[in-house]
Amino acid sequence: MNIEERNKPFIDRDKLYEMINRKAPTQSELNDILNKALKLKGLNLEEVASLLRVEDEKQIQQIMDTAHTAKLAIYGKRLVLFAPIYTGNICCNNCTYCSFRKDNHLIDRKILNMEEIEHEVSALLLQGHKRVLLICGENNKNGTDYMCEAIRRTYGVREMNGKAYVRRINVELAPMEVEDFARLHAEKIGTYVCFQETYDPILYKRFHPAGTPKADYEYRVTVMDRAQEGGINDIGIGALLGLIDYRFEVLAMMEHAHHLEKCFGCGPHTVSVPRMEPAVGAPDAEHVPNPVSDKDFKKLVSIIRIALPYTGMILSTREGSKMRNELINYGISQISAGSRTNPGAYSENTYGEHKDESGSQFSLGDHREMEEVINTFIDEGYIPSFCTGCYRKGRVGNDFMDLAKPGLIKQYCLPNAMFTFREYLEDFASPNTKERGIALIKKMMAEYDQKQLIPKIEENLTKIGGGERDLYF
Ligand code: SF4
Ligand code: SF4
Repeated sequence: MNIEERNKPFIDRDKLYEMINRKAPTQSELNDILNKALKLKGLNLEEVASLLRVEDEKQIQQIMDTAHTAKLAIYGKRLVLFAPIYTGNICCNNCTYCSFRKDNHLIDRKILNMEEIEHEVSALLLQGHKRVLLICGENNKNGTDYMCEAIRRTYGVREMNGKAYVRRINVELAPMEVEDFARLHAEKIGTYVCFQETYDPILYKRFHPAGTPKADYEYRVTVMDRAQEGGINDIGIGALLGLIDYRFEVLAMMEHAHHLEKCFGCGPHTVSVPRMEPAVGAPDAEHVPNPVSDKDFKKLVSIIRIALPYTGMILSTREGSKMRNELINYGISQISAGSRTNPGAYSENTYGEHKDESGSQFSLGDHREMEEVINTFIDEGYIPSFCTGCYRKGRVGNDFMDLAKPGLIKQYCLPNAMFTFREYLEDFASPNTKERGIALIKKMMAEYDQKQLIPKIEENLTKIGGGERDLYF
């Protein structure tokens, strides 16, 4: 760890606002930046600020086309799927944009006990999920002891005669101390996720009027440093888009990523792009202070993709199906499917047509069931992936980036996507989806350029067809 860098503040508010308010780049400047982006080495802060200032429709399309090329070059046509499990919606904070805020008396409150968490896990396993994100409001009933137990119980659930189990747990939890991160690390979590909400230190106070430590900007903005010190190499950052000018947030996330690279030699594993949705009893979600238009949203996703080419980008079910289907072409590499954001919703069978969102954190934009989501990705030629290979093989943090930066990670992603998708098709899909999915895998195999790996991939696919599970590179 670079201690000197660790202690330097990394968000210079005035500088970032000055950068977003300059003139848009000329066509020639834009071309230079996008040509550099195609080398897949990322962009610096000045270049990202220039792209954020572009407003011309044709030039935005040029940025999106570049992001599309970059995404295919790095990830190929695979899309990782996961599901969140909300373990509780009782919260001691009062964030003005969230239904879980303590002063909101309009939602039902609940913290799941361990048996209830296991029921949620079972319900998701029976949909075909393998990767879950544990997430909850902040209060003294679900601190580190509770989460460690929840992680153990989640990993312990077995379905389908022991063939279906959670292979990776990521967590989205409030900031904590280094010792608590060390405990989570010992429980073998994958990525630790925490959104800054807004990186503007002044406006942060407006949206977080109460609650300790949530109201403490400094404590939150330094959380990833403590996570790294606690041994967690894969971390996920994000900002809640709609609170302030999205261009400031994107630049600040770049600064955060650069800070982590300088201090720990490795930037974030993922960036999330949650756009504000209506939320019951949350005044700033009912009247979003700085709404991000669809046009700007596509632009910012494309810019993040080319600025941080090796960082996964996550989109939740906040967005509607049309936007989600579009954004997978421009940068999104992970997506939640069949999600519910109220504790206990999967096992209470409030899924599908009969939706009951009481107790939810926000309104969902995409209510589709898992198989329907999967079918739209098949239509787009994307292999839905439940891969957890890197985490299981220890390719995390710097080891992951050493493979990702020379463009080698795709060698693992596509075969692992085919293996996990084939498992899904065998165990959970309807006959029609199975037929379409197998045809897509065959097409992928025909186009796959790492010819030396084909015999091993075919061998594994045959084994999966014969009943073996959990094969990965
Ligand atoms: S955003 Fe998080 S901390 Fe704030 S009220 Fe909601 S659950 Fe609590
Ligand atoms: S191979 Fe690694 S980077 Fe690729 S999908 Fe699997 S876990 Fe993610």
